[in-house]
Amino acid sequence: MHGARTLAEPDCDATPGRQAKGARVPSWQNELGQAFRRPADLLAFLGLPAPTNLVDHGFPLLVPRGFAARMTPGDAQDPLLRQVLVSAEESLDPPGFTDDPVGEIGCAAVPGLLRKYRGRALLVATGACAVHCRYCFRRHFPYADLPRGERWWSAALAALAADPTIEELILSGGDPLTLPDQQLAAIVTEAAAIPHLSRLRIHTRLPVVLPSRVDAALLAWLHSTRLQTVVVIHANHPAEIDGEVAAACARLRGAGVLLLNQSVLLAGVNDAPSILADLSRRLFAVGVLPYYLHQLDRVRGASHFAVPDARALAITRELTSVLPGYLVPKLVREVPGEPAKMALTPSP
Ligand SMILES: *Cc1c(COP(=O)(O)O)cnc(C)c1O
Ligand code: SF4
Repeated sequence: MHGARTLAEPDCDATPGRQAKGARVPSWQNELGQAFRRPADLLAFLGLPAPTNLVDHGFPLLVPRGFAARMTPGDAQDPLLRQVLVSAEESLDPPGFTDDPVGEIGCAAVPGLLRKYRGRALLVATGACAVHCRYCFRRHFPYADLPRGERWWSAALAALAADPTIEELILSGGDPLTLPDQQLAAIVTEAAAIPHLSRLRIHTRLPVVLPSRVDAALLAWLHSTRLQTVVVIHANHPAEIDGEVAAACARLRGAGVLLLNQSVLLAGVNDAPSILADLSRRLFAVGVLPYYLHQLDRVRGASHFAVPDARALAITRELTSVLPGYLVPKLVREVPGEPAKMALTPSP
């Protein structure tokens, strides 16, 4: 998955104010500028009463208006709203929920580059996201330690060039598609010049939460790279996929991109077989195959989203019985030190 910081931060290159003088601001950036940033505004938009005393623990609300428009007005339990609304339950602090549940902090030998699994290297391209998901495992990630400056990715790409075992570059974050296209195009052009790299993967929630991001400038560099490209989107509930998202997915496929989806299993959002079966059908209808269903990473402040393993396994068993195999996502959990994400299987 990807991690999180707000685009409102002044150090973010994707902030419209940081555009080169005279450059046209892409419309997706304007749209992001209009996103909800205060719980009271989002709730007023939905016709819900204003909250009192919500503590965001340094992870402020951020919700693009197009995503909020897919929520049901007047429904305080809306599954899309639950993913993004600051909640009092975030102050719960049960044992086992920590700031670095997947053991990433401090594991990057080259700043911003994670080489946890064989053959693949993950570049934490930015800390910025277009939406703040309350369950996000990267909410405590030390993004301030990421490399900065012009061509901040040089050291990471040099490390990749020096390691012939790496065949896939994964752009993640934060959300890499919050970066300007000039930067992304430069990274991908330099990566494509590394002969042993054959695949480019992009982990992003933007095609779902801000589908206008899939614009001509993005499609141009995606279409022209020699690297085989996979875009892993992130939707958790079928109501997230509307006509705009379908159109964005169609544009990506038109650029030769393979589309996969990852979801997080979330209590009160999608922890029912019927919802996840619908999500798989809806994804397939727009040309996306389900990839992973993640058991929640045990991050502090997200314990209210946890689904017990036994329940998770029962849900996937039911999915397996109603859907073709290719529409059943793999239920996984990230375990520090393991050679891959670990598939959950029933205990014997
Ligand atoms: C999840 C992840 C990957 C990709 O794993 P796949 O099983 O290939 O999807 C790579 N690197 C890191 C650090 C990851 O967390
Ligand atoms: S889009 Fe959501 S889940 Fe993905 S990195 Fe950002 S906050 Fe985390």
